[in-house]
Amino acid sequence: MINQAVLRELEGSTFQLTEEQKDIRQVVREFSEAVIAPRSAEVDETAKFPWDIYKQMAENGLVSLPYPEEYGGGGVDPVTECILVEELSRVDLSAALACLVNTLGSKPILLGGNEAQKQKYITQITSGEKLCAFGLTEAGAGSDFMGIRTRAVKKGDKYILNGTKLFISHANVSEICTVFAKTSPDPGLKSLSCFIVDSSSPGFKVGKIEHKLGIRGSETAELIFEDMEVPAENLLGSEGAGWKLAMSTLDHSRPGVGAQGVGVAQGAFEFALKYAQEREQFGQPIGNFEAVQNMLVTMAMKIEAARLLVYKAATSVTNDNREKSMHASLAKCYGGDIAMEVTTDAVQVLGGYGFTKEFPVERMMRDAKITQIYEGTNQVQRMVISRHLLKGYK
Ligand SMILES: Cc1cc2nc3c(=O)[nH]c(=O)nc-3n(C[C@H](O)[C@H](O)[C@H](O)COP(=O)(O)OP(=O)(O)OC[C@H]3O[C@@H](n4cnc5c(N)ncnc54)[C@H](O)[C@@H]3O)c2cc1C
Repeated sequence: MINQAVLRELEGSTFQLTEEQKDIRQVVREFSEAVIAPRSAEVDETAKFPWDIYKQMAENGLVSLPYPEEYGGGGVDPVTECILVEELSRVDLSAALACLVNTLGSKPILLGGNEAQKQKYITQITSGEKLCAFGLTEAGAGSDFMGIRTRAVKKGDKYILNGTKLFISHANVSEICTVFAKTSPDPGLKSLSCFIVDSSSPGFKVGKIEHKLGIRGSETAELIFEDMEVPAENLLGSEGAGWKLAMSTLDHSRPGVGAQGVGVAQGAFEFALKYAQEREQFGQPIGNFEAVQNMLVTMAMKIEAARLLVYKAATSVTNDNREKSMHASLAKCYGGDIAMEVTTDAVQVLGGYGFTKEFPVERMMRDAKITQIYEGTNQVQRMVISRHLLKGYK
């Protein structure tokens, strides 16, 4: 049976950027090209978090742009937030993550926190003073995060946390982290809770730092909690609210991952396009050959389609649309898939030079891969989409 309501949600919408959105795109593009691009190859090589770039992002208002004004943010609309993500990722996804991981880590506070928690923690992030990480994944709990084993046991006015988180972006550079832990041994969804954790708490340790294929300037580490005390006032919402908060956070963050895909694909595409006009073989620019033209055209089509899907999903999630989870998954999955396809084709357009570190497209191809993996693999996104399509929305 075809779910007509879901199909209607998939229908297209016309779209036009406002003058303000175009201006913000221009400002972020100029910043990215002037500040980030000259450092990208070196940051990729050294695999160290680019503190100097982060500081300049904060000074120029890019870190705070996506947050509500009442907590020191720029208060921009969801499409403008996607434009910020796209433009930073177009030059360097790894550097983009310097401010984007904050938005993931702090989303549980914005969605589930009380006023005092938001005033205390969100303002420290918007001011650029502290970074915020997101601690969900564990060795045995990736796609199926209900397999989490980190425990939080209440003792008086504190919770005692024990456990280990894996693959946590910026775990070693963030002073704030939202951490998901079991507050009950039973296997149900209500057993999961979410806490705001300060890295200065005794018992908070950073473990192994990963050596990665891409996004190498965005450091990824293990987080270990050994009898770490967390004040009870740092619980987000109530005990048992963790599963809902994680799902809702991912709905909000997935269009942004789609935007990362669109951005990195756009950067690689522009580079390949220019190269095809300049590189000559058989006495003419390679862009004159139909096989190369077909690659460039297909790249452009995929990017354009993914971009509109991302803007639609970001708006749908912010408006709490009934089908927001499907829209978020469509945008994340398609944005990630085309990022991988387009960056791989960009390497192909550059031939042997594309395979060398002389040009940025090989880095973009390595960076793009992560958009198919984190915040729910693209297989998991397809599972979410197919549930909506086949079973309808309940
Ligand atoms: C660089 C990097 C940064 C990250 N940052 C963070 C972070 O900041 N915070 C955080 O909490 N996590 C983070 N992660 C973790 C990331 O979200 C997980 O790696 C991801 O969700 C997949 O989990 P997994 O690695 O355990 O893979 P698994 O769940 O073990 O999956 C392995 C394979 O099986 C497939 N699979 C699993 N279940 C199904 C199914 N039901 N149907 C079909 N296929 C399935 C997957 O698609 C995948 O191909 C990060 C990971 C990386 C690599």
